[in-house]
Amino acid sequence: MKFGGTSVADSKCIGSVVDILEQHHKKGDELAVVVSAQRGVTDQLIDISARLPSSKDASDIEPLIKSLQTRHMSTLEEAAPGFIHEVGPIIEERLQDLHNILHAVHNLRELTPRSKDYIISYGERLLAPIVAAALEQRGIPSVVLDGCEAGIVTSTQHGESTALPDCDERIQRRIRPILKKSIPVIMGFMGCTQDGIVTTLGRSGSDYSASIIGAGIDANEIWIWTDVDGIMTSDPRVINNARVIPELSYLEVMELSYFGAKVMHPRSIEPAMRKNILVRVKNTFNPTHPGTVIVRHQRPDHRVVKALTYIEKVAAININGAQMIGRPGVAKAIFSALADREVNVMMISQGSSEANISLIVDEAHLDIASQALSPLLSQGIVREVIQNRNVCAVAVVGSGMVGAPGTGGRIFTALGKAGINVMIISQGSCEANISFVVRQEDGPRAVRVLHDEFCLSEAIDA
Ligand code: ADP
Ligand code: ASP
Ligand code: MG
Repeated sequence: MKFGGTSVADSKCIGSVVDILEQHHKKGDELAVVVSAQRGVTDQLIDISARLPSSKDASDIEPLIKSLQTRHMSTLEEAAPGFIHEVGPIIEERLQDLHNILHAVHNLRELTPRSKDYIISYGERLLAPIVAAALEQRGIPSVVLDGCEAGIVTSTQHGESTALPDCDERIQRRIRPILKKSIPVIMGFMGCTQDGIVTTLGRSGSDYSASIIGAGIDANEIWIWTDVDGIMTSDPRVINNARVIPELSYLEVMELSYFGAKVMHPRSIEPAMRKNILVRVKNTFNPTHPGTVIVRHQRPDHRVVKALTYIEKVAAININGAQMIGRPGVAKAIFSALADREVNVMMISQGSSEANISLIVDEAHLDIASQALSPLLSQGIVREVIQNRNVCAVAVVGSGMVGAPGTGGRIFTALGKAGINVMIISQGSCEANISFVVRQEDGPRAVRVLHDEFCLSEAIDA
């Protein structure tokens, strides 16, 4: 079971978490728990680490440490009053470490990807001992483990690392023996390289941690506890009548999370899918709601489109040139140049004339992508590279679209009627996702138009 930032935001929330765990523990369920940082803490850590190398003085450090101390100590005092003397010094010591590391970054005027990962893992480091103490307070034995101790060994790609294939055996060996006696409380979001260097798994990475651990111990089920009743037809902050979807396939959730549905980390389905483990998404604050069940093949459903999502921080690159027509190797030159600079391409579309290739990349990678492509201009392989930051990508997801003619027509007719201009279209061969690019300001409206077009606010069993 994984509990997200809102689920552990304060002592009251942690009380709800412990209620849930206690209920399952009493039933005799063996549980492993993954926790993320308290809501907002990872953001604070990312923010300060970005500012320190260039800030004139280190005056931001003390207030941050003080606020983390106040928040975590009061959570501890309220959630586990009997454990202040045992756990309080652990938190103080970690805050002192964090304080020293932040000063080191400031003194060196340098933040390496390695030091950044180490710093931003402190949200989880500070919180996990409090959740474990809250369990102990209720008489439930627990053990705290960081991601590395739990056996999550990752690639060296700091900030976006992935679990190595041999994790299962290590996790099994480390976690299984604990389950019989107590509940392991594992720090999400973090792991380490084979050399023991701390890594992080990307924003929202605790979902991924939970799935890695679940696959490692061959869990019967993986439960993601969050602050909404389940995965919804769209982001409830954009669509106020979005509904919870009772059942989704692994593939559908992968498509949704990859295209920005913040409710799950994009990689979090992979480990569960590999072991065919059922995943549930549930609300910590409404635990009797059945939530969303994620399985390999969901029951047949008359709905063609299940959910919509959009991703804002992307940029489009249009590559044009008549010399690209019928010339083998152009696509290779473009994608090799981007791959060499580690630019991830999120969407690709090629006009049938072959004189144009359009790509979508993460906005943060746009400058590197442009630099990578500029030699192709001087070599005459392409004529122009045009970039556009004012775009967003919308994804229409549903495995019912596979082999169902007419969905594309409905999507683009509805958008056309609403006066929304579609700049790029892409459909993968899996056919469970049709994605397209519109102007940034049209994104939320495009989602609303399609939510209505496919009647997604109507009850699923209607
Ligand atoms: P946690 O801290 O529990 O991991 P997150 O904030 O990362 O929670 O993710 C839950 C949030 O994701 C919800 O509060 C909701 O605003 C947002 N969200 C975006 N898209 C969806 C969707 N399709 N279904 C449900 N929630 C979504
Ligand atoms: N604390 C991390 C983040 O904010 C991981 C997570 O919440 O899942 O991204
Ligand atoms: Mg999350």
